[in-house]
Amino acid sequence: MSDTNGSLFNDLMSSEDAKKAKKAEYMREYSQKNKERLKQYMDVYNKQYREANRERLAEKRLEKRDERNRMTREWHEANKDYVVEYRKKYLEENRERINQHKREFYQQNREDQIAKVVKYQEENKEKLEQYRQNRYAENREFFLEQSRKYKQDNPDIAKGWRRTRRARLKNAEGSHTPEDVNNLFALQKGKCACCLRSIKKGYQVDHIVALSKGGSNDKYNLQLLCAPCNSFKRAKDPIEHNQSLGLLL
Ligand SMILES: [Zn+2]
Repeated sequence: MSDTNGSLFNDLMSSEDAKKAKKAEYMREYSQKNKERLKQYMDVYNKQYREANRERLAEKRLEKRDERNRMTREWHEANKDYVVEYRKKYLEENRERINQHKREFYQQNREDQIAKVVKYQEENKEKLEQYRQNRYAENREFFLEQSRKYKQDNPDIAKGWRRTRRARLKNAEGSHTPEDVNNLFALQKGKCACCLRSIKKGYQVDHIVALSKGGSNDKYNLQLLCAPCNSFKRAKDPIEHNQSLGLLL
């Protein structure tokens, strides 16, 4: 009895299975045959669904994004050493490519980038100043050494800085570049503006009207002098000085 029942049950089940298998086969064939048509249909359906549920889907995405971000943060926190090491290695291995990308991006978005930086600097003036001061205080020796080295390697630029600083202290207007000084050297044909002796071995940049007398710091108030002429003229009134040389009499 139980045997018969069992086999009947089995028969029923297998016929059920066979039906299922047949249906699945039919569906496979159907979807294979109508692939294009189904795809078109699904595209339209999906599009309509997305449009009809735009807000809900956006909300869901946002929820998921927060969740994902939180998980990422936690993972990063738990694997800090690995992340730092991995990042360092990645940067080293892809430095050229990354720099190239940065350059291209910067060139394409130059104005936006500059505006962004300026805005950030304006909005965070105090914070940045504090940061600079801290950084300087913590690395004072290093910065002094760097600065000393740079001035030694670039004496003309360093002299320019000193002139700018002097000018600023005296509230003088105007500014000039190392290039202006080079142009002046060419204009003066490598000769002292005062005694016309060669200054090819060295010269001093002089403010024609001294800063202390309200002279400007721009290139039109500069001349190149040999050391003796400059020390003779220094702090003297230019008219007085030229008179003393017999140039204005
Ligand atoms: Zn001279």
